[in-house]
Amino acid sequence: MFFMPTSSDLQRKLAGIDRKGYGAYKSITGTYQYDFFTLYIDHVQSDPFAPPSRMRVRVSQRVAAFPAGLYRTRPGRVALEDFLTRQFAAEARKYSEKRGTGKSGVIAIDRCGQEVLERTSMVVNSQYVEARFTVGLPARGRTVMAGEAVDILLHHLPAIVKHSLLYASLNAEKLTEHVQLAEDQEDLRRQLAELGLVAFVADGSVLPRESGISDLPLRGPNVIAFRSPPEYSVTVTLPHRGKVTGMGIPRGVTLIVGGGYHGKSTLLRAIERGVYNHVPGDGRELVITVADAVKIRAEDGRSVSGVDISGFINNLPFGQDTTNFSTSNASGSTSQAANIVEALETGTRLLLLDEDTSATNFMIRDGRMQRLVAREAEPITPFIDRVRDLLDNFDTSTILVVGGSGDYFEVADRVIMMHNYLPRDVTARAREIAAAAGGERKREVEAPLNRVRERIPLPQSLQWQSRDKIKARGLDDIQLGRENVDLQHVEQLVDNSQTAALAAIIKYATAKYVDGKATLMQVVQAVLRDIQREGLDIISPFRGQHPGDFALPRKYEIAAAFNRYRGLRVKQK
Ligand code: ADP
Ligand code: MG
Repeated sequence: MFFMPTSSDLQRKLAGIDRKGYGAYKSITGTYQYDFFTLYIDHVQSDPFAPPSRMRVRVSQRVAAFPAGLYRTRPGRVALEDFLTRQFAAEARKYSEKRGTGKSGVIAIDRCGQEVLERTSMVVNSQYVEARFTVGLPARGRTVMAGEAVDILLHHLPAIVKHSLLYASLNAEKLTEHVQLAEDQEDLRRQLAELGLVAFVADGSVLPRESGISDLPLRGPNVIAFRSPPEYSVTVTLPHRGKVTGMGIPRGVTLIVGGGYHGKSTLLRAIERGVYNHVPGDGRELVITVADAVKIRAEDGRSVSGVDISGFINNLPFGQDTTNFSTSNASGSTSQAANIVEALETGTRLLLLDEDTSATNFMIRDGRMQRLVAREAEPITPFIDRVRDLLDNFDTSTILVVGGSGDYFEVADRVIMMHNYLPRDVTARAREIAAAAGGERKREVEAPLNRVRERIPLPQSLQWQSRDKIKARGLDDIQLGRENVDLQHVEQLVDNSQTAALAAIIKYATAKYVDGKATLMQVVQAVLRDIQREGLDIISPFRGQHPGDFALPRKYEIAAAFNRYRGLRVKQK
């Protein structure tokens, strides 16, 4: 009969390697039964400066005792796992301290921000709760400090587990709020389509952030809480919270206008982030956007591979082909055109644009400029002449921040003005102005924009040697062998762990699905299907080692990562 080693066995093993070389820690790899949980030491670091050792703790539901209602729905389960990750992190922080060389003594779990994302850091199901975390096994120089290790693994770890993974020791009210809010958010996102809306901003929402580098809500007497103009006021009914009133933005073309510094970009940024659920107290909990919204911006310098941007750019100098356009150094306008076409290819239903981050010549060409520079000499069909095509032919709406050009009044379904951080409906007045001035500029299009060419990634362009590094660095960078994928302008990528997942997804997807026949979209969808079926762990390159720091990105960010890989070659379908 097999008896699983116990925590006492672990303690004995540690005592036996005291003051030995660091490599002796390898011998504690394995599984240990504690009195109320199981510890899995999956991978032991090779030295005190290497990435810390990977471990898991599993508590049976017989002990953890989470009510099944908390993880019955997918959004509920994700929110519960998110809550437990935060709780584990807070408890781990109390005990995590530097005890020796390098990362000695550091106990850590994935870090959550203001969004509630599906993560690999925590697993809850009807059988158990499992936390995936890391421990810097303590050393002085390269010498095992067994006493310190016993302290961490035999005393502190049980305390952390007790205070973070047992239902009885948690604040049930807060936990329920966390889970129910996520269910409400998901329900509201689903309701938007039925209501003919693309975004909803609840009255009372706090949109501005603390600072340019903090995603926490701005606080203090100068914060203006959001209030819908009567024209767009909608009341929705949520499963837990009941009736909630706020501004509903209908499908179509919506302009957000207003003076500089009156809160236009802040509103748009909140809408951008509304594709994700937020934690209670964030201020944007009930700012909800359709899941298929994509922020579009100019991104000069990016590479583009085989994209048909001819709907926006034509007649380039030297007859460069724009129906199958590739460049390693796009301009502001060509990059913005490529971003739109790629988003359409990925299935977007809502584009979000801010004049602050758009190429001016891509957005507008006014009447005077039309008279001075002949149509034949201008390769760009500005966005203003395509925004209705996108709606009519792709059912893709646009929300656009413009403070600088009234020409857009003619193509807008509604105009919302931000004034002292509050929205007003100014549609009627904008229409009057557009009608009175009239005829200033002409629509300049030769052919409608009504199709997107799907692209097939070529396997030869996505092959790496096994020694090539494929990994994420922070939020904005992925290293694929010798190439760097720059994601800093992919603005709806919000979490380092999403970027880590993107690196793993690219590797997984290319090995499994890039075959020279599948389109990029089919590849992305196949991966997402696997993840949905098997869980996010599936993308991990490690076997027998937990992937504790992945968070799920959307299909748009997955496609964006492929599209920004400079080695990517495609053929059009
Ligand atoms: P715009 O895009 O119209 O120029 P921004 O959205 O950039 O304006 O906002 C300008 C400043 O006002 C920012 O510092 C922002 O944090 C702050 N701000 C935005 N909305 C609010 C609000 N509702 N209450 C208080 N301050 C706000
Ligand atoms: Mg702005």
